Amino acid sequence: MNCSKAFDHYIALDKHERVPLPVMVHLVFCPVCRAAVRQMAAAETLLSRPLSVRLTKSNLSDDPVLSAALDKIAAAGLAYPVRDPVAKRVSLLRWFLVGILLAGGFALFPFTSSGIWMQAEFGKALVVPFYILCGCAVTAYGGLFVGTNIDLFVKRFKTLKTGF
Ligand SMILES: [Zn+2]
Repeated sequence: MNCSKAFDHYIALDKHERVPLPVMVHLVFCPVCRAAVRQMAAAETLLSRPLSVRLTKSNLSDDPVLSAALDKIAAAGLAYPVRDPVAKRVSLLRWFLVGILLAGGFALFPFTSSGIWMQAEFGKALVVPFYILCGCAVTAYGGLFVGTNIDLFVKRFKTLKTGF
């Protein structure tokens, strides 16, 4: 699936509609489309909430006219955020590396000196708690991944559809 087709398919979805698997796979592996989806979701989030960021002296200019204007704007309770919400995201490469480390760590633990000692000390009583811990850790990791990258799995913003 190419970028144009995948993005058109994504845009055609309704808000909160589940993203189909081929489009989801494309978004996970295509940084251009992923960034575009995140920017659109962030733009809608910014537009849908009131202007709430307060100006501080650190982000005011040295220009007295501009400072006075910004003071008036701040006194009126209006401001706009200047941060980039997309830049705060953890890259997918880091997510995959951490996932591989997590799964690899649990797979290799029984062969480490600690794992060998625990097997000798606790025997079969260790198996069930160890696999429960593995399951909880992988579930928590998967939940965090989906929760922080929800735009890739469920469409979060609304687009206007033109009827023909
Ligand atoms: Zn793409």
